[in-house]
Amino acid sequence: MIQTEDMEFAPRVISPEVSEEDCEIEVSLRPQTLHEYIGQEKVKENLAIYIEAAKRRGEPLDHVLLYGPPGLGKTTLSGIIAHELGVNLRITTGPAIEKPGDLVSLLTSLSDNDVLFIDEIHRLSRAVEEILYPAMEDRVIDIIIGKGPSARSIRMDLKPFTLIGATTRAGQLSAPLRDRFGVIQRLELYSPEQLTDIVRRSSMILGIPCTRDGASEIAGRSRGTPRIANRLLKRVRDFADVMGNGEITKEIANIALSRQEIDELGLDSLDRRMLDMIIKGYGGGPVGLETLASAIGEESVTLEDVCEPFLMQLGFLGRTPRGRCATKLAYEHLGYKFTDTPDSTADDGQLTL
Ligand code: ADP
Repeated sequence: MIQTEDMEFAPRVISPEVSEEDCEIEVSLRPQTLHEYIGQEKVKENLAIYIEAAKRRGEPLDHVLLYGPPGLGKTTLSGIIAHELGVNLRITTGPAIEKPGDLVSLLTSLSDNDVLFIDEIHRLSRAVEEILYPAMEDRVIDIIIGKGPSARSIRMDLKPFTLIGATTRAGQLSAPLRDRFGVIQRLELYSPEQLTDIVRRSSMILGIPCTRDGASEIAGRSRGTPRIANRLLKRVRDFADVMGNGEITKEIANIALSRQEIDELGLDSLDRRMLDMIIKGYGGGPVGLETLASAIGEESVTLEDVCEPFLMQLGFLGRTPRGRCATKLAYEHLGYKFTDTPDSTADDGQLTL
């Protein structure tokens, strides 16, 4: 059985959000071409065709929306798209564009066919978003000059450009914005085999000796997310240096990851606390997300964006119209006896994804 008590607020090694420590290595580990980018085969196939067609026509690529949980490679993919198109990439985030003027200066500074990447695009303010509509559709922006009755609007042409928007929550995007993206692609969690390849690639670039079994042990506990796999690789390297001869083996990886309280499936203390609360506090569910979040003292967005996609992929969590439920597999994993109550199954067997 897995202990859940004593781990209350330890920093999460397996948070998929970018940490300061990640920044330094992420740049060196980012694949540059579609060929180097591991997994997401369908997305790659589609993008390869759209990129080739845009290049042949000498036009910008249609605007692209990438969505999926953090750490899956959205920023990386935008860099690859710009690289494959042979154009410049400008990177910003929704919350960084505070005023419409900030976006106007970004848009007017782009060269022909450049790529503008806006991360967390669902967090753009309404006023900023409204500048984007004509910019995306007709390559123009309307600027208001002056104030009061003498204010007048002038229209400015923009150079052709591609907007790549990334979001963890496509559902929060307003319909007018979503409709202006010609290409919408969802990134999926990676399989253990794909993550093993990513760990092996990263260990080669960083010059860390790593056996295939060692890489696969790290991959299996990285909750489908390359950013976590790369971070765990660094943690395990410390153990390999101190406890062994520097080579990452299955055994060393196992010891190192257990010390980080990451279990053999990649669940950390927060995942376990969440499941534990559903099972012990709410009889297995259903329990509403907000109730659950306040019961364990965590932000509901963290549970929704970070814990849930992974727990659902493992088949540990069901989302029903009336709330979240722990499944039999979750009971078994945490070492509890499963008691099937009518409430612990989804309404009409229908899962809300
Ligand atoms: P996101 O923008 O979705 O949060 P990033 O693009 O920043 O994720 O990716 C996080 C890290 O994971 C990058 O440094 C990159 O090295 C690695 N990574 C992501 N996707 C892949 C992939 N398909 N192949 C290899 N490495 C990847």
